[in-house]
Amino acid sequence: MTTHDTDILIAGAGPVGLTLALALHQRGIAVRVLEKRDGLSTASRASTFHPPTLDALDSLGVLKPLLPGGVRIDRILWRRVDDGSAASIDLGILADDTGFPHRWHREQQDVTPALLAALPPDTVRFNAGAQALAQDDTGVEVTAADGTTHRARYAIGCDGAGGAIRALAGIAADTNDYAHRVLRLLTPLDLRDHIPGLDGLGYLYDQAGSCSLLRMPKVWRLIFRVGPDMSDEAALEEDHARARIARFLPALRDLPIEGRDVYGVKRAMALSYQAGRVLLAGDAAHLTNTRGGMNMNAGIHDAMTLAATLAAVLHGAPDALLQSWAEARLRVVRDALLPRTDARVAATPADEVARMAALTPRETLTWAREASMLDISRVGSPA
Ligand SMILES: Cc1cc2nc3c(=O)[nH]c(=O)nc-3n(C[C@H](O)[C@H](O)[C@H](O)COP(=O)(O)OP(=O)(O)OC[C@H]3O[C@@H](n4cnc5c(N)ncnc54)[C@H](O)[C@@H]3O)c2cc1C
Repeated sequence: MTTHDTDILIAGAGPVGLTLALALHQRGIAVRVLEKRDGLSTASRASTFHPPTLDALDSLGVLKPLLPGGVRIDRILWRRVDDGSAASIDLGILADDTGFPHRWHREQQDVTPALLAALPPDTVRFNAGAQALAQDDTGVEVTAADGTTHRARYAIGCDGAGGAIRALAGIAADTNDYAHRVLRLLTPLDLRDHIPGLDGLGYLYDQAGSCSLLRMPKVWRLIFRVGPDMSDEAALEEDHARARIARFLPALRDLPIEGRDVYGVKRAMALSYQAGRVLLAGDAAHLTNTRGGMNMNAGIHDAMTLAATLAAVLHGAPDALLQSWAEARLRVVRDALLPRTDARVAATPADEVARMAALTPRETLTWAREASMLDISRVGSPA
């Protein structure tokens, strides 16, 4: 068994672990990533990159070459399909707050390879899931599935919801499933040609329900809630999918569907982000509903603020700075990320369009800042 030394050891080469690794590397800190899989995940998951995340990826030098492969979304639409009432918000109102006053839609799996490519070769060790962990006053030792042992001054669990580090470090979590699941249909039809005022993100409502429309580079995602009394198989059936489309887009009932899936949504929060020299970031620390597209973004903000904090500590700042970071990011999850997502999930469909249309300009700006996470993205950064 070989022991490898590094400053910072990261478990997990998802968007959060790779962002953290790159942000540390660019500060001259030695970093190694252990990844359980034999390559990066290619699952279709996050689609939405919010303004502060774009600022972060730009500061790491990886964003600009990726931009042409994604779609820029300037406006969000809310529309009642029964009475035609509508509201919209132009994200350009955020121009004073960010270099990217818009959303950007691209598959998460298209962004992680760019982060990996910006790291020195051999930073990431694949087929090396973290399996055991021990810590003392000066460092942490992690044993990986390939039999290697890695000693670092700090270890960071970026190993996702099913990872090992949180439990190995003895950190408990509060976890609940949301009562519903999500049906996702993919269509190549450009919905902008059929829905007045639609740019790249729309919420359609009737009295009792809603449907979200998200423009991706090659397809649109149509997103519906599936109640607890319906099986995944039933939700995926053709007749059911067509009925759901017809309810919100009657003229497009027969639109081409080129992909469909159902996924469950969980709500989870680690009770601490830190146990000694072990810290957590991303899905290893928090999970939310996908509505609003915030959880990966929050994880990338965890990574950016943690990199700045670790750099300060490695350059002589007191260890207590890490505790402040851990407490600050936990408060972000508990007081903003989870309640904000829950409020969107609980919103009453019949009232949403009128509520958005009634916002004053000042309330609209506050809404846009919160929906874009601009108010919480830097919380935890050292002063
Ligand atoms: C359908 C869907 C849509 C979504 N849409 C959005 C969205 O629009 N916006 C948004 O912000 N979020 C969204 N999310 C959430 C987003 O996908 C996650 O928040 C994001 O992947 C978290 O990144 P991560 O790096 O923390 O974890 P992960 O992406 O899960 O990466 C963890 C990595 O750790 C590895 N690993 C696991 N165990 C170990 C171990 N023991 N040792 C080493 N490595 C290990 C895994 O193989 C994996 O590569 C969506 C999720 C889903 C499912």
